[in-house]
Amino acid sequence: MIVARTLAEWHKCRAQWPDDIGFVPTMGGLHEGHMRLVQAARPHERVVASIYVNPLQFGPHEDFAAYPRTREADCARLADAGVDAVFVPAEDAIYPHGRERHTQVRVPGLSEDLCGRYRPGHFEGVTTVVARLLGIIRPRVCYMGKKDYQQWRIVTRMVMDLALPVTVTGIDTVRASDGLALSTRNTYLTPDERARAPGLYATLRQAAGHVEGGMAPAAAEALAVSHLEALGFIPDYVAVRRASDLAPPSPTDSELVVLAAARLGRTRLIDNHEFRR
Ligand code: AMP
Repeated sequence: MIVARTLAEWHKCRAQWPDDIGFVPTMGGLHEGHMRLVQAARPHERVVASIYVNPLQFGPHEDFAAYPRTREADCARLADAGVDAVFVPAEDAIYPHGRERHTQVRVPGLSEDLCGRYRPGHFEGVTTVVARLLGIIRPRVCYMGKKDYQQWRIVTRMVMDLALPVTVTGIDTVRASDGLALSTRNTYLTPDERARAPGLYATLRQAAGHVEGGMAPAAAEALAVSHLEALGFIPDYVAVRRASDLAPPSPTDSELVVLAAARLGRTRLIDNHEFRR
């Protein structure tokens, strides 16, 4: 596996490669969820991953400094999985004139909703870095997890709006056997919090069941919020939305998703569940 640390190293490799590249952008701290994306990319002639903890998508009081950095283990895991190259840029390869002066990419509306309300600037940081990574890697397909459902929808919109020559493919969430969505941030959970954490997904499934059974989305959301509170979470939101564009659902929409963000101790967990009614 080629480990490209600079743009020059990457471009040298890219110049000799076919265009059929499957790309998996990550922030490292790899787990089975990331590896599922790598597996999905395997049919491409080349598989490329990136590891970059993007400062632009962290708020001033968020966990940028504490975010797990496990580069050696990550690279070993990617190599074992047959990844052809991993791009591990330093900050000046991503933001050459400094992150404050870098061109910003923003998908309005979608980026300020749901998690965007609680993490101002977060999705702008995501779209800005993903746009640059897509320009550098030039993949045919970019694989993203539906675990970060809103992020996946926003990046898909960005690619359409900017007419970028890449397909964004969403991959189903990989979960622990008790239902907890795998996440790098799960390492922050204490044993007691880890035992309670599956309650988030269980609550979302229950809320989906209520809506499937005819309950109004707002009532199901309110019930889910109280249920999460009873389990010891501090919910930011629970929201039932139309799956395709995350708009509030009209009574005739059948493809829905229920999304939530909730804090458990110092860890902010997000999850979602797609369903039909
Ligand atoms: P991250 O390193 O957290 O930025 O995640 C990199 C990619 O892996 C994103 O597209 C995530 O949505 C995806 N991902 C993270 N956790 C999971 C999971 N449990 N199942 C599927 N994809 C995931």
